[in-house]
Amino acid sequence: MNSPILRSAGLRKFFGPLEVLKGIDLDVMPGERIAIIGGSGSGKSTFLRCLNFMETPTDGRIDLDGRQIGRVKRDRSGKDTVVYSEAELCDVRKRIGMVFQQFNLFPHITVLQNVMEGLVTVSHLPKQEARERAVAELDRVGLSEKLDAFPARLSGGQQQRVAIARALAMRPEILLFDEPTSSLDPELVGEVLRTINALAEEGRTMLLVTHELGFAYRFATRVLYILDGVIHEEGTPDQIFNNPQREKTRAFIERSSEFSLKAMQ
Ligand code: ADP
Ligand code: MG
Repeated sequence: MNSPILRSAGLRKFFGPLEVLKGIDLDVMPGERIAIIGGSGSGKSTFLRCLNFMETPTDGRIDLDGRQIGRVKRDRSGKDTVVYSEAELCDVRKRIGMVFQQFNLFPHITVLQNVMEGLVTVSHLPKQEARERAVAELDRVGLSEKLDAFPARLSGGQQQRVAIARALAMRPEILLFDEPTSSLDPELVGEVLRTINALAEEGRTMLLVTHELGFAYRFATRVLYILDGVIHEEGTPDQIFNNPQREKTRAFIERSSEFSLKAMQ
């Protein structure tokens, strides 16, 4: 029996009084590709950000490869809380890569330098090795020609592929994508989805928040519908898109499908 590479148990997140994640339990098996769908403000981004500790969970635990992240500590009132060390979180962020809607490239350095940056400053690779790895990853996403270009000279689709190369260069065990095509012009969506699809074919473990339901249908091994900070329904793409069991899932799918679900089959 395989064991999960990533586990979220009872994960909760408050922003002040606002409870955004209300107890998320999820086991991610190695090689799984999980599409996360749901309305705006339902907590999808916050969930991904908690998984790689860009946000600190308020409650619950996250295990990476069978080990709980952080250390349980009893506070003065006798309640157990989890405390995290910055060194451990830095390690977690290396092992769980993330690609954002807005690319988040540094504008003042070249494409190659953008991909090398984390390898040098975070992973402490020697410059030459960092450069070789960055060149290889940029080649993988089809951008060998753009090593010395500045991000502003690239199309949105190319910038997002640089961001993907940057994430891959860290050799993460898990990749998180937060609406990677949402800020792209329609004609540039395809090249980014093809890049993500190629990673899927390599058997990588990925979680993808997306509104591209047609892509999610083909890409995912499992789909989660998030509603109001909980996993409202989950299942195979076929179950969620063609035969959702819960009314709100069905309504969401109907609202979001710009094209007939039949066209996806
Ligand atoms: P989604 O990605 O599903 O659109 P988010 O996870 O971005 O949703 O946001 C969920 C809720 O949390 C929203 O109400 C949002 O306004 C709120 N939220 C997100 N980040 C913060 C933050 N840093 N501070 C306060 N509220 C936040
Ligand atoms: Mg979001």
